[in-house]
Amino acid sequence: MTDRYAVFGHPIHHSKSPFIHSAFAQQTGQDLTYTAIDAPAETFTTAVRAFFAEGGKGANVTVPHKEAALALADDATPRAQEAGAANTLLFTADGAIYADNTDGVGLIRDLTNRWGLSLEGKRILLLGAGGAAKGILAPLIAARPRAITVANRTAARAEALTTAFAPLAVRFDVTLTTLPWAQLVHREATPPFDLVLNATSASLAGSTPPLSPALWAPDAIAYDLMYGASPTPFLIAAQQQGATRAIDGLGMLVEQAAESFWLWRGVRPETEPVYQALRTQLAASTAC
Ligand code: NAP
Repeated sequence: MTDRYAVFGHPIHHSKSPFIHSAFAQQTGQDLTYTAIDAPAETFTTAVRAFFAEGGKGANVTVPHKEAALALADDATPRAQEAGAANTLLFTADGAIYADNTDGVGLIRDLTNRWGLSLEGKRILLLGAGGAAKGILAPLIAARPRAITVANRTAARAEALTTAFAPLAVRFDVTLTTLPWAQLVHREATPPFDLVLNATSASLAGSTPPLSPALWAPDAIAYDLMYGASPTPFLIAAQQQGATRAIDGLGMLVEQAAESFWLWRGVRPETEPVYQALRTQLAASTAC
């Protein structure tokens, strides 16, 4: 019998996940369907439980439900617990809901496998302290950079994030600090960064966090978790200011999906053809 999977979010109509998982299924010969289900906050938990009661095998969860997804699960992986949020749910044979968070590993695989970058010994600036930042911080620390600095528009959220992850940073010998948002535009006191990650949703609003040329080390890389048909405002500003490479989050999207697929099906799909197909689709959408 064909197994059913879905992604829950609100809004959800722009989701690339049905395309990605259908492509993975075709490539690996897995018999499954994958649909997008629009669920506002009030009905999210009921909708997920109904999906599983009707035979659904697993689900992805996206904005704004990742914290609620963890809360409704009976058990969760350590990385989902560390993130305080889940993007993947698995309905187990004994009827329990198991939660995982594959965003962090998706980012690390994109950076290291697709783009050939090593994070070890590097200085990283993480912009943002929302759900995505929470999901990627533990794997970033585990990649053993020299230092991670977190800056967020609302300073208290950056402080809370660094406090929560301080023990992990100590374990991996990573210096984890915060930087006031206002200082992003005029900071000369600390060394510049090798990698600046934009985990804010500013690009969604067509804006960029404040940046200054002093932020970028030679050969610095700018990475925006958001992706689109054209470079995001953050990536454009970063290149104007001295970043040598600008990478968007499309690869992370495909890699986090592959990790969910592996959790559900025990099969690891090839991500590169699906990444390239999405790139082509995005490029075609600007040509229209
Ligand atoms: P979220 O939980 O709503 O957090 C939003 C973050 O962005 C907060 O830190 C918020 O700061 C900041 N922010 C919002 N508007 C801003 C603005 N105009 N200027 C500066 N900062 C602003 O969202 P999220 O789940 O973390 O998602 C963040 C981004 O990551 C989104 O663009 C999302 O699409 C992307 N993402 C991509 C992937 C992928 O696979 N590629 C996966 C997950 C997320 P305050 O705390 O001050 O409000």
